[in-house]
Amino acid sequence: MKLPMADNIVWHDAAVSHEDRIKQKKHQPALLWYTGLSGSGKSTIANAVDRKLFELGCHTYLLDGDNVRHGLNKDLGFNDTDRVENIRRITEVSRLFLDAGLIVGTAFISPFIADRAQARELAGEGFIEVFVDTPLEICEQRDPKGLYKKARAGDIPHFTGISSPYEAPEQPEVHLKTDEMDIEKAAEQVVQYLKDNGIIYA
Ligand code: ADP
Repeated sequence: MKLPMADNIVWHDAAVSHEDRIKQKKHQPALLWYTGLSGSGKSTIANAVDRKLFELGCHTYLLDGDNVRHGLNKDLGFNDTDRVENIRRITEVSRLFLDAGLIVGTAFISPFIADRAQARELAGEGFIEVFVDTPLEICEQRDPKGLYKKARAGDIPHFTGISSPYEAPEQPEVHLKTDEMDIEKAAEQVVQYLKDNGIIYA
């Protein structure tokens, strides 16, 4: 397929290579892709992990679903085409951060297996799927943003878990059963995975 804007554009090799950037850091680049229902704890756990990694001297960045929709993706809605484009842009931005050598966290519901597979393929090595596994009943009890109440009242169409499906990961790299652990323990499990897999050396 010919891209309309890509004519006469040539990829420019960088003076500082990806390998140079990795050597400068105390860790490998990685993309922690948090997925789970609204209110499952993606943002909370991703922030707790980010704080721990920061304290270990890692260079990190967090892309949060709601924040990205305020800026980069504010022109996108929730229909199927826009959801795919949402994930594509997030993945492309994550790739830039990965190229810079960072450990990136993304906290998006990302309910469809196919979309997460697309992100995994685009991101390549370093993609780590983190399933924030919290039963719907608990998410609905917490309802931190009052969205379940609105969805049950029919005010939000296609709401994941209520009127739109959530396809749970089949083989996530990290599986957090948050009804069995607190936020601290969940964050520790993610950091331990990074240590066990040679992404952080501390
Ligand atoms: P999401 O980003 O998945 O929509 P949030 O992180 O915004 O979810 O909200 C999850 C809420 O659940 C927060 O208020 C958090 O403090 C609370 N919570 C209670 N117990 C846990 C736990 N074990 N793990 C994660 N979050 C928890």
